[in-house]
Amino acid sequence: MSELMNGKELAEKMQAELALKVKELNERQINPGLVVLLVGENPASQVYVRNKERVANQLGIYSKVERYSQTISEDELLNEIEKYNKDPRFHGILVQLPLPKHIDEEKVLLAIDPKKDVDGFHPLNLGRLFAGNPDKIPCTPYGIMKMFEAYDIDLTGKRAVVIGRSNIVGKPMAQLLLMADATVTIAHSKTKDLAALTREADILVVAIGRGHFVTKDFVKPGAVVVDVGMNRDENGKLIGDVKFDEVAPLASYITPVPKGVGPMTITMLMAQTVQSAEAERGEL
Ligand code: NAP
Repeated sequence: MSELMNGKELAEKMQAELALKVKELNERQINPGLVVLLVGENPASQVYVRNKERVANQLGIYSKVERYSQTISEDELLNEIEKYNKDPRFHGILVQLPLPKHIDEEKVLLAIDPKKDVDGFHPLNLGRLFAGNPDKIPCTPYGIMKMFEAYDIDLTGKRAVVIGRSNIVGKPMAQLLLMADATVTIAHSKTKDLAALTREADILVVAIGRGHFVTKDFVKPGAVVVDVGMNRDENGKLIGDVKFDEVAPLASYITPVPKGVGPMTITMLMAQTVQSAEAERGEL
């Protein structure tokens, strides 16, 4: 049986440390601030934004949520971003994705001051990451690296397979694993004989978005399995991309859903907001 990589527990520990750090910074008149821009009424986005606001408040980070109507124009949204780029109260700006179809996501990400891009999605920050000199890092893969670190999982020379090639999870995950000296393969929907490939993996990160897709047939005994997926089953229950009950007996380490990767993602968002506030004061 595998050891559980408990993201919730690790996130709580890191958040407690961050809260102390914020207190210490406050004493020196540094007040980390995060603004979240939410367009429209997407129910999942509303939940994510509420969670971010709640955690920011718990840590003593000054936070604000700006809600805009679904019909806001691209120009109006870009103007709002510019306003917050200049607002010294905020060290982090996050635009909750997805955006309505009439707004060009790339234009929006490019408009955020890279120094305030605490999600790590700005092309400059992605470029720095892929050049091996990261500043802001996409929070989900960053949180997963912290889990590997906390559980003493040595990545050097390991065969890693990442399923999924999105800019926010799969690709940056692969790059971080590469930077940690793993030998990395990225798989996607066109990959042939996926299970044969993933059975070679010592480290398997699954970021597909299909409930219980990865069964025991995909996993090498002793592998470390990280499940990024967040899906709803037919009863509305949150489930991962990995069939946990079947895979857990095989794996050496495994993350659950919920209480796995999710809480780490939000923690890294807060960590990068605090780091951004310190950097602005020249303290990093
Ligand atoms: P995405 O942009 O939809 O990307 C999904 C990836 O999975 C794509 O690269 C796609 O391949 C690949 N894929 C789809 N079907 C496949 C198949 N049958 N076999 C192999 N690969 C397949 O999703 P994402 O934003 O990366 O998110 C992935 C999952 O993680 C979602 O469930 C999302 O909700 C979750 N997520 C969780 C967190 C968290 O904090 N826990 C954060 C972000 C995302 P193609 O490129 O070929 O289409």
